[in-house]
Amino acid sequence: MDACAESGASRREGTLMLHLLGRCNLSCLHCYMEGSPTRREHLPLEHVLAAIRECEPLGIGSLYLTGGEPLLYRSIEDVLSAATAVPGLQITVCTNGMMITPRHAALFRKSNARVNVSIDGDRAFHDHFRNQQGAFRASEAGIQAMVEAGIAVTVVTTISQGNLSSMASVAEWAAQVGAVEFRVQPLLKLGRGTSMTDQFLTMAQMDRLLLELSDLANLYRATGFRCNLVGQNRKFLLAHPCGAYVCNGTGCHRGVAKEIKKLVVREDGTVLPEVTNLSHEFALGKLGDAPLALLVSSYLNDGYARFDHLCRETYANILPTWPSIYIPWDQILAERSHHWIPRPDAAILPLERRSDPQCGVTGAARGLSLDERSPFMIQETRTLEN
Ligand code: SF4
Repeated sequence: MDACAESGASRREGTLMLHLLGRCNLSCLHCYMEGSPTRREHLPLEHVLAAIRECEPLGIGSLYLTGGEPLLYRSIEDVLSAATAVPGLQITVCTNGMMITPRHAALFRKSNARVNVSIDGDRAFHDHFRNQQGAFRASEAGIQAMVEAGIAVTVVTTISQGNLSSMASVAEWAAQVGAVEFRVQPLLKLGRGTSMTDQFLTMAQMDRLLLELSDLANLYRATGFRCNLVGQNRKFLLAHPCGAYVCNGTGCHRGVAKEIKKLVVREDGTVLPEVTNLSHEFALGKLGDAPLALLVSSYLNDGYARFDHLCRETYANILPTWPSIYIPWDQILAERSHHWIPRPDAAILPLERRSDPQCGVTGAARGLSLDERSPFMIQETRTLEN
């Protein structure tokens, strides 16, 4: 999957993320989906179209089309056309941008789709990180074709030890090429990224990155070009646990007993709540086995409690002592989910009625003091770029 950094900005609050296939034309060093040219899993078109038809009744307002490389999905035009027919559905395509043709650009334009493209540094660094000579030039050409077609392109950059010092120059390049936004994703310990042990940022580097990105955001603010960070802010999650999927129990001020804000459909059809790399033990089921609405309602009755327990226990154990303002919440949850054994005696975040009317993932984006959230951090992002 590429550059799938969500921003969430629709009337309907739910998100559906479709990993259409595992195959990719690249095999990037850090890919958390472990995409590669040899992967064969893909979602059957009829199941994809059925899921898209359910978006409106399920309250889903944001659809992410990703992979692998979604442009390799044979029926991508049919998928876009079905999604365009759903009223109020905001489509985002997450791609490495290398295979964009004017025909794709016209298609995205017609679908009013946004497009996220990953660029990880200058030409040499990007080609190294993306494991292919010529990758930068091809992605740049793809971005240019989309900008010319009037598409809102976001450049998403994975930051590691190797390119931390070039963040400002990548932002400058993105602004010049005509992107509307620059998003920074710190390298994650997921998928192939797990083995890049010498490339993860230290906590001190993370804090410095936040300051530098804040400066960049200020520098470009007047031009309309936005600079953001993909991920979550510890203070924000402490104030608003529902951002970590743990405030949505019976005590929630919204009166929501159980809730899934995002459905992730993996390339093999496994439907997961909220987090792309979650262990499949927490799955709702398989796409195509039943309508999504039925998978959701069955899960809320049986299965959700286990996920809720994982989230609450992780929250109670990790968040209060986390030493940085930035917390890769989904990575932490995903890592834990693979070896988690519920401990009835463990500390978990209790259900409690919260009086804060801003508590809620969507409401969180409004009216918080800068103490509670960094002004440039994407609070609503829950699945991170790869
Ligand atoms: S990071 Fe994106 S472009 Fe790279 S292998 Fe993974 S899916 Fe493909």
